[in-house]
Amino acid sequence: MSGPGGAGKGTVIRRLVERDPLLWLSRSWTTRARRPGEDEGAYTFVTKDAFLEHAKAGGFLEWATVLGEYYGTPYPDAPPGHDVVLEIDVQGAEQVLERCSPVVCVLLVPPSREDQERRLRGRGDSEDHVGRRVELGELELERGRRIADAIVVNDDLDETVDGLAAIIEAARREPKG
Ligand code: 5GP
Repeated sequence: MSGPGGAGKGTVIRRLVERDPLLWLSRSWTTRARRPGEDEGAYTFVTKDAFLEHAKAGGFLEWATVLGEYYGTPYPDAPPGHDVVLEIDVQGAEQVLERCSPVVCVLLVPPSREDQERRLRGRGDSEDHVGRRVELGELELERGRRIADAIVVNDDLDETVDGLAAIIEAARREPKG
């Protein structure tokens, strides 16, 4: 799943994983600092040196930089029979689509700019950061639309989660090549 910051990816994914025991959420590595109040397990928080060393050793399925910080997906270690869920930016999604199959790529879109900004502010991002996230989000949408199998507007959380669960079920029944 990709989408601009403030689209609600984290919340939606948490709900999906809670209700579907066969989904396995990958934990990314990042060099950014943990936000105040952010779960310690939200990421594996590492230094730039540690990140780059892991990248050099071929330890990531994909990695990218977002607003000057590194983010990467370690090779997934999901129990057999599980489907891996990645919450990554569009650059990362492009890499995954090249390397893995079958993949369902979902672009989650905030219902409005106001809603997106409210979510970004709500988690304590600075005004400057909110502005940069919104700007970057425009590019994410543009690039994401080209690769997405489904574009989902996150207006009503329950409806969004139901819709995504249906997309996942359909993909399980009929995986694309
Ligand atoms: P945040 O700092 O808000 O947690 O994440 C910033 C952006 O990085 C979001 O678009 C998020 O989806 C993306 N991101 C998080 N983990 C990864 C990852 O492992 N790989 C890539 N490419 N992007 C990631």
